[in-house]
Amino acid sequence: MSGLLFGTGGVPHSSARPKTSVCGVKRIAELGLSCMELEFVYGVRMAETEAAQVASAAQKSRVRLTAHAPYYINLNAHEHEKLISSQDRLLQTARVGALCGVGDIAFHAAFYMKDDPVEVYRRLKQLLPGIIAEIRRQNKYILLRPELMGKVTQFGTLDELLNLCSEVEGLAPCIDFAHLHARTGKYNSYYEFKSVLAQIEKRLGRAALDNLHMHVSGINYNSKSGEVMHLNLREADFKYVEFLQALKEKDVRGAVICESPNMEEDALHLQETYNKV
Ligand SMILES: [Zn+2]
Repeated sequence: MSGLLFGTGGVPHSSARPKTSVCGVKRIAELGLSCMELEFVYGVRMAETEAAQVASAAQKSRVRLTAHAPYYINLNAHEHEKLISSQDRLLQTARVGALCGVGDIAFHAAFYMKDDPVEVYRRLKQLLPGIIAEIRRQNKYILLRPELMGKVTQFGTLDELLNLCSEVEGLAPCIDFAHLHARTGKYNSYYEFKSVLAQIEKRLGRAALDNLHMHVSGINYNSKSGEVMHLNLREADFKYVEFLQALKEKDVRGAVICESPNMEEDALHLQETYNKV
């Protein structure tokens, strides 16, 4: 599969009941979308038999699957037990994700926990190669993608991600453009979107733009804490037309995962708008 794919973060609302991942994949194809992120955000609960069904449905419908690891991951946890369970959750996501045919795993790397961000960065840089090696031992095609985070208490600014991904082998970014806007109050114009893409290209090479993993949605935010909550595009100030123009101008390829509450509605609107700009 090539080009830029559009899809939803999670099973579309309009999927058949019960809303299983298999139904979600089929619905994505019916809608004319082409990717879906499996949301393991409250835990990796999928039997191997179901994972195999998901993989076969995705292959048949030509839907590309990605996964989102559990929210309860903090690679800067101060308690040893929490650190171990955070790593386990990443490994579980990779194991089940691989059975589903997933190539990319987005995850929330860490909270600063009031530590110096430089120190948190150092810890992640030390910890991630071991986790990546363990995942690669099981499946060499899985790419871990730390997400650009919207809250100021969370590790994951644009700079932190670009630094980490250029220093740690086997790591690529998940660029959440709504989070970037919410966290900074900026990055909401054609030229700013293009500058982000140029930075990614400069730091990580053109290959990063040929397979970029992105999240997008409308977003509510404030200057004190950053992200408050996701919104539908039409209810928010995110300049998605300019965003899509920048993607097209740079010929960015990969996946745009829509995380608006209305999911497929905005995903389709993004796809249609992209085709027109
Ligand atoms: Zn996320």
